[in-house]
Amino acid sequence: MNIAQYHSIIDSLPPHVRLVAVSKNSPVSDISQLYKEGHRIFGENKVQELQKKHELLPQDIEWHFIGHLQRNKVKYIAPFVKMIHAVDSLPLLIEIDKQAKKNNRTIACLLQFHIAQEDTKFGLSLEEAEKLLNDEAYNTLKNIELQGVMGMATFTSDINQVKIEFQKLHSIFISLQEHFFKNCNTFREISMGMTDDYSIAIEEGSTLVRIGSAIFSSR
Ligand SMILES: *Cc1c(COP(=O)(O)O)cnc(C)c1O
Repeated sequence: MNIAQYHSIIDSLPPHVRLVAVSKNSPVSDISQLYKEGHRIFGENKVQELQKKHELLPQDIEWHFIGHLQRNKVKYIAPFVKMIHAVDSLPLLIEIDKQAKKNNRTIACLLQFHIAQEDTKFGLSLEEAEKLLNDEAYNTLKNIELQGVMGMATFTSDINQVKIEFQKLHSIFISLQEHFFKNCNTFREISMGMTDDYSIAIEEGSTLVRIGSAIFSSR
């Protein structure tokens, strides 16, 4: 846990960028400590771990699910999750809508794009996203709100490559905004940037940085 580092990150963020503190693998006590510093937005990538932490911690925490989400597990987090970052298919979006409706709520979602060179990372192409957004089934969904895009850059020390990938995500965001979300001010988030690349992500237009190890490990 590195509270000083947390404050230096928070102090360095431009006003339009929010921090998702990625607390995966970190104990409840660390999250409590950050909560006492006033932080409210936390990110987790495993359903069971998120459920457990949600039960044990204050109810006004905004929980963001940032990992790959299986359809059959949506029901466990639908009662409380604030935002799901990594939506990469229409069937998943339909399931999130269904479970949100059961709980009388709306769940904010981001479409995940494949911008990295590694093929292990999940995500859509621009074409696939356009197909999803043009699908009649998408247009009937009332309990999800698509608020933007999310992506992860290649794990590399080549800053230029990371920059190009973030620029690509930004241009995907602009294109979708123009073609599908014109005059819709709720489509506004670009979730990109982690411990090693968040400064570049902010330069390239990030509005949500997802930072874990810089805050939670005491290196
Ligand atoms: C773990 C994780 C992060 C945070 O990574 P750090 O390098 O620890 O900052 C961000 N986004 C996703 C999707 C993650 O799984």
